Amino acid sequence: MVVGDIATGTDVLIIGGGPGGYVAAIRAGQLDLDVTLVEMDAYGGTCLNEGCIPSKALVHATDVAHDAGGAEHMGVHADPAVDVQGMVDWKDGVVDQLTGGVEKLCKASGVNLVEGRAEFAGENTVRVAHGGEGQGSESIEFEHAVVATGSRPIELPGFEFDGERILSSTHVLDLDEVPESMLVVGGGYIGMELSTVLAKLGTEVTVVEMLDDILPGYEDDVTRLVRERAEDLGVRFEFGETAQGWEDTGTDAFVTTETEDGETGEYTAEKVLVAVGRRPVTDTVNLEAVGLEPNDRGFVETDHEARTDVDHVFAVGDVAGEPMLAHKAYREGEVAAEVIAGEPAALDHQAVPAAVFTDPEVGTVGLTEDEAEAEGFDPVVGQMPLRASGRALTLDDTDGFVRIVADEETGFVLGAQIVGPDASEMVAEVGLAVEMGAQLEDVAGTIHTHPTLSEAVGEAAANALGKATHTLNR
Ligand code: FAD
Ligand code: NAD
Repeated sequence: MVVGDIATGTDVLIIGGGPGGYVAAIRAGQLDLDVTLVEMDAYGGTCLNEGCIPSKALVHATDVAHDAGGAEHMGVHADPAVDVQGMVDWKDGVVDQLTGGVEKLCKASGVNLVEGRAEFAGENTVRVAHGGEGQGSESIEFEHAVVATGSRPIELPGFEFDGERILSSTHVLDLDEVPESMLVVGGGYIGMELSTVLAKLGTEVTVVEMLDDILPGYEDDVTRLVRERAEDLGVRFEFGETAQGWEDTGTDAFVTTETEDGETGEYTAEKVLVAVGRRPVTDTVNLEAVGLEPNDRGFVETDHEARTDVDHVFAVGDVAGEPMLAHKAYREGEVAAEVIAGEPAALDHQAVPAAVFTDPEVGTVGLTEDEAEAEGFDPVVGQMPLRASGRALTLDDTDGFVRIVADEETGFVLGAQIVGPDASEMVAEVGLAVEMGAQLEDVAGTIHTHPTLSEAVGEAAANALGKATHTLNR
């Protein structure tokens, strides 16, 4: 302890108040543990403050403007004017409501909230430095700790974020005016979601992606629909190029790129968004002091109980490995809290869904056909194109499909790939099916409300069984 420290003690010390940390704290509080949550920046972490929520708010707001302006064929004539500051203010209101909610929920569960930066100072001690000059520090003794320090954007060498020309996703979510042009480096989740937002606001967007397609890991028929719609919105794609360097021309960024064969590309844009992935945050907590070190990819390794190599220390969320998704963090937070409380709990990552909030949306869960085959299943696949869905037609949004993958022999549902409006919602039904060990018959036999998009999930399952009534069977 340093002079001036006030020493306190807690059963469970949680470092980081994002989705992993705050859910661990609330669950531990519900289980009557004495819990302290330390957050050095803002409750809700990346997700609520500069990730999922603000980005989805802007995705929706730009959809409203874009859809209203493109509905003449439906007899709707409008020319919406976008006030970017108004849009950003509304988004901030949504964020404030949710972050305030996190604080209230923590307090209601008896969680002791501490603001400051926590660093391990020993096997059972952290030192919390409170923000600002002269704010002091305190030592907290703990029985168990949960590391939930999240991730931050990767900075490309030579492209350090300055918030002026070279932007991270956080900067783009807070723009106060619409840039004329944006070069987006990286065509992954963030690159594609924010390109869609920007293109709908009227920015001229060029995406430079080092691979030969967008959204690595997704199947070709999924990425094709997203890419084509983005192209319709005016987004230009340059594949097989990596960003090398840039110069400020005074009005723009002049960016050079290179292909694997050494060919160079040149681009000029008012701003550059670098979205080339995120890196786990471990440099804020002094892991060494508790006997831990990150693996060679920077993650803190954990087992099926979210426990690290040091028995009384757990790690959850982005810092504990991929996929770096908020709902994965939630689940890990719950499991860590339950294990600490002595409850039987374990992680099962087979049904972690993923969604990309592009236009059209993508929603996936479980295995693809190829993955099922690689795992030794004999996959059977059923598909329903959304052009045959009454609801998709009434929404004037028919690009996409629902595909369901099952094991032919047992009928067990293994996964789904969905592209189309509300794919992020539709995928939940298949997630439940995978989680419960449901069979195709269960999904096909479920009565879905008409007319809804989710009927396509039932119809895809029926298609896999050769029993579809609204599409041609396989
Ligand atoms: P974080 O949310 O990063 O929280 C970690 C917290 O720890 C931070 O608040 C940080 O201040 C704090 N911290 C770090 N070190 C210390 C310390 N030493 N002491 C005290 N506090 C500390 N995921 C989805 O599932 N769906 C989406 O739609 C989605 N959209 C996204 C959009 C964008 C633009 C971005 C950037 C991310 C998005 N994500 C999305 C990912 C999601 O935000 C993360 O997976 C999620 O926030 C991870 O939660 P976490 O608790 O592990 O970490
Ligand atoms: P990402 O991993 O999704 O995509 C990064 C892309 O950048 C890849 O396509 C990669 O090939 C490309 N790339 C890497 N280096 C490059 C270079 N030098 N030049 C050109 N291209 C390069 O990462 P992201 O988009 O930064 O998002 C980070 C993480 O945040 C995601 O992996 C995801 O876990 C999370 N996220 C999730 C959602 C969601 O769930 N809807 C939305 C946004 C972010």
